[in-house]
Amino acid sequence: MNTPPVPPVPPVPHLPAARTLLVTGASRGIGAAVARQAAVRGWEVLVNYARDAAAAEAVADEVRAAGRRALVVQADVGVEAEATAMFAALDSAVTTGRLAPLAGLVNNAGVVDLAARVDEMSGARIERMFRINVFGSMWCAREAVRRMSTKHGHGGGSIVNIGSAASRLGSPAQYVDYAASKGAIDTFTVGLAREVAAEGVRVNAVRPGIIETEIHASGGIPDRVQQMAPSVPMRRAGTADEVAAAVVWLLSDEASYTTGSLLDVTGGR
Ligand code: NAP
Repeated sequence: MNTPPVPPVPPVPHLPAARTLLVTGASRGIGAAVARQAAVRGWEVLVNYARDAAAAEAVADEVRAAGRRALVVQADVGVEAEATAMFAALDSAVTTGRLAPLAGLVNNAGVVDLAARVDEMSGARIERMFRINVFGSMWCAREAVRRMSTKHGHGGGSIVNIGSAASRLGSPAQYVDYAASKGAIDTFTVGLAREVAAEGVRVNAVRPGIIETEIHASGGIPDRVQQMAPSVPMRRAGTADEVAAAVVWLLSDEASYTTGSLLDVTGGR
C-alpha cells in the first residue's frame, strides 16, 4: 500500500539570545519558583498575578537580582479581555525595548475549591473552575502561539501547561471539577502540541502531585500536605522548586525534541 508523502518538518529556528517567558500566577507557589529558576537560566520574565501585587513585585525583584529584566502585569486569566490585555502590555514592552520577544509561556495560574461532591456543586463554582484553569490557559496559549509560531512570522517557542495528577486520579468527594479541568489541560496539551509542532512551538504539560504551596489552604485543607504525604510512594510532598525544575527543562532547548508530553512530578503517586 502506498503511503502519502509526509511533508518535511522545517528545522526549528535558533531562538534569540534574549527571550521573554510569561508565567501566569507567578506571585507565589509553583509560578514564583518557575520565574526565579527561569531568570537564572537567562529568561526575561513577565510576572502575572491576580490579587497580590506586592508578592508579584517581590518575585520580579528576584528576577532582576538574577540579572534579567522583569515586568509585572495584573490580569485575571479567567477573564478573556484581561488575558488579552496582558499580552497587549507585553507587546508594548517588546516594541519599546523593555522586554525581549516572547518565546515561552507557562500556564500556571490555577485554583481549587472547597471539598464537595459533584451533586453539591453550584454552577457558578464549576464555571469559575473552568474559566480560570481551562479557558484562561487556552486564551493565553492562543495569544502566545500568535506571537511565537513561524506561521505568524516569529521564531518559535515553548509552552508548558501546569496540569495535575488529579486528571488521572479524579479527586472524588474533594474536587472532581478541578480534576476534570486538569483533564482538559492534558487533552489541550496533546492537541495543541500536534497542531503547532511544525511551526517551531513545543507544548508540554507538567502534572504535579502533592506540592507544598498555599493552594491547599485555599481549598480549606491547610494541612493537606501532612495528611497526604504518607500515601505518596516517596512518603513526602514535593516542593515548588522540584516542579519548577521540570518546567524550566521543558522550556529549554535541552527539551528540543519533546512535545505533547505529560510529565508527572508526583513522587511516584
Ligand atoms: P498557589 O500557591 O495557590 O498560587 C496560585 C497562583 O495563581 C498565585 O500566584 C495567584 O495569584 C495566581 N492566580 C490565581 N487565580 C488567578 C487568576 N484568575 N489569574 C491569574 N493568576 C491567578 O498555587 P500553586 O500550588 O502554586 O499551583 C500552581 C499550579 O499548579 C495550579 O495550576 C495548580 O492547579 C497546579 N497544581 C498544584 C498542586 C499542588 O499540590 N500545589 C498540585 C497539582 C497541580 P494571586 O496571589 O495574585 O491571587
